[in-house]
Amino acid sequence: MAKPFDHVHSMRMVSEVAKLCVFCGVKPNEKTKEHVIPGWLMRLTGSDTREVFLGVRYSDGPDKLKIHRHSLNRYTFPACHECNQRYATLEALAKPVCEKLIEEKDVSPVELEILFHWLDKVRVGLWLAGRAVGTNIFKATDPRFHIAHRIGQADRWARLTLLPQEVGNGLTYAGVGTPLFGSMPSAFSLRINRLIIQNASSPRLISRWMGLPYPATRRTRTPSGEVFHSEIRFGKKKILPRMMNYRKRFNGLEVFQPAYPFKLKDCERPFLNEYAKRFFNNLKDLEAKVVVATNGEIHVNGSIGPAQYAEMKHSPDARFPTDFSCSTLELQNYVSREGLFGGLPVSKRDSERARKLRNDLCKLNRYLLKRLEDQAADPNKNDDGYEEMEKGLKVISI
Ligand SMILES: [Zn+2]
Repeated sequence: MAKPFDHVHSMRMVSEVAKLCVFCGVKPNEKTKEHVIPGWLMRLTGSDTREVFLGVRYSDGPDKLKIHRHSLNRYTFPACHECNQRYATLEALAKPVCEKLIEEKDVSPVELEILFHWLDKVRVGLWLAGRAVGTNIFKATDPRFHIAHRIGQADRWARLTLLPQEVGNGLTYAGVGTPLFGSMPSAFSLRINRLIIQNASSPRLISRWMGLPYPATRRTRTPSGEVFHSEIRFGKKKILPRMMNYRKRFNGLEVFQPAYPFKLKDCERPFLNEYAKRFFNNLKDLEAKVVVATNGEIHVNGSIGPAQYAEMKHSPDARFPTDFSCSTLELQNYVSREGLFGGLPVSKRDSERARKLRNDLCKLNRYLLKRLEDQAADPNKNDDGYEEMEKGLKVISI
């Protein structure tokens, strides 16, 4: 069993990250401020001056762990002017999509794709923010990517759930405080008032099960030893069972979109068949059409209407906050097992180290899961913000 703070020694104090544009990673000439939690989302879910819980702050060292609280509207990071304008457009497009989902209005495939872009932005933004403020246990310097490098670059999946109106307003996220998320921002959950979104993105997470070409790790012998790198393999040309086969703790509707972190010219052959082509409007960008799974049926270019809303409805019981958190941890473990990490060729030693770290972090998630389950079984032990979450007032991570 990995001890939760094994990796603390590799932490450094906060960081260059805080000075770089959150979108492109370049030091901005003309600096503007980007809200990691966008203004419209703060106002839609409560007061934008409320103080929120942002996770445990690791950056002061293992003896001084404390909860990091912050006023929401001051939770900003630098961005260059151009990036900020570009992503302000994405925010302006994403807001009505979230509102439509909350109000049960029809949502088109194009709008679902906007939602996926936006979830990529928020997920990676929260990850970068964690590194900057020290709530990410990993080294605060040199993230290998920023928001712009992660939008639409890998298979994307979301599971949408609608709670009854009576749950009231509130913003909650889950999963962004786990060390597994700290190592790789692949899966998290978000509650926006009555709308619950579970979201994951990773190469091959969906494409492989859709029978489409998928990335896999290839081992090659070189004079200096074995190297591991990713390549595209031929798909099975049929939908395979057990896609996103992790424990579903509450009702929900699954939507997804295969996408690839490759250039078409480097991996064209597996895509040149009728089966694969029907999933793409245009093969060039290797971003497939959005798919909606309704009652076990796959709808390519699917949209959301009354039949889909019926599947999204869930009446929460007292356990729901626990299930919301636990489900996210289970999703993270599933994604780290089924997805594909890496890309650049790595040595056998580095590949082995990455595998071991991932296993340890998954173990840690299982430990957190057990703790959450124990707390749910004995509410007297509830001491980390569940009451606040139930009141819908605060943002909780983990
Ligand atoms: Zn920028």
